[in-house]
Amino acid sequence: MTVTLEAVRALPKIELHRHLEGTVRPGTVHALAAANDTPLPVDDVRTLYTYRDLRHFLDVYDTVCSTIVSPADFHRVAYESVLDAAATGIVYTEMFFTPHVHLSRGVPAAHLWDGITAGLRDGIAETGIGVRMIMDCTKFLGPHLALLELDLLTSLPDPDGFLVGIGGDGIEAGVDDAALAPVFAEAARRGLRRTYHAGEFGVQSVADAIRVLGCERIDHGPLVVEDPSLAAEAADRGIVFTLCPSSDVLISQVYPSVRDHSLPRMLEAGLHVTVNSDDPAMLGRDISDEYVTVVEEGLVTPEQLRDIAIGSVDACWLPDDDKAALRARLAAAWGGAF
Ligand SMILES: [Zn+2]
Repeated sequence: MTVTLEAVRALPKIELHRHLEGTVRPGTVHALAAANDTPLPVDDVRTLYTYRDLRHFLDVYDTVCSTIVSPADFHRVAYESVLDAAATGIVYTEMFFTPHVHLSRGVPAAHLWDGITAGLRDGIAETGIGVRMIMDCTKFLGPHLALLELDLLTSLPDPDGFLVGIGGDGIEAGVDDAALAPVFAEAARRGLRRTYHAGEFGVQSVADAIRVLGCERIDHGPLVVEDPSLAAEAADRGIVFTLCPSSDVLISQVYPSVRDHSLPRMLEAGLHVTVNSDDPAMLGRDISDEYVTVVEEGLVTPEQLRDIAIGSVDACWLPDDDKAALRARLAAAWGGAF
């Protein structure tokens, strides 16, 4: 049985690991850079979107972010992101944004949030998909800045209830993840759900995210299988791993190729996994490409992909009634697909 890109695009999907800043179209980066007089290090953004390692990727990420300045810029980026998500069959997404990269350039939190949420509203009105947002603190900067960002973002009006979670991203190696415990506890007190980028450079970050930060989800986390007792604990606790196999190869270089990814071993360990794109524009591959790749590279069977796609409903943070409706929709569509 073959799983074609055309077929997968037409099926409803949920994406839980997608960074707003990683969805900026190359043409939009050029347009915003020109409008805001922001220099780009290359003439062709497609050249910009190739990476030597995680640190280089994060440098490019900062460059892209530096082109987004005004509320209108954030509106455009968020609006186009929703359109692009819908075009590849996403019916619901929980999307990260990283306040620090914008606030540190002097962008007021209100400009960032007003622009993003206005863009989301317009995109949602046009496409009918569902979107929620997760604020990612920048892990290596420590708890004080993260708490400041939490205060800023949770003090802004959010009548649509877009902000549902807190996460952490950025450089993983050498970070004291446990130091963020007070921030994540405070976020939980304010009603936010918790997730964390971990497990691409070791397993301690996964253990700390689960045991100390109280996370329900781990973003990436492929190395968890290197510690069978931790993997068993994660399976028992029902921790969800939002995997991005191509990103683990192209950005973090955890594996030499997608074929070597630990996804099959994670399934064998009984872990709840979802498959996601991470940064669709910056990687040139969206969730539909990723779904096809994990089958073509032999990581999962078409039947396992179907189960992963439908199981993404149980991993999302919608209210139970909305999840039930979404589950029925995905089960009906995917049930007859393969
Ligand atoms: Zn990510």
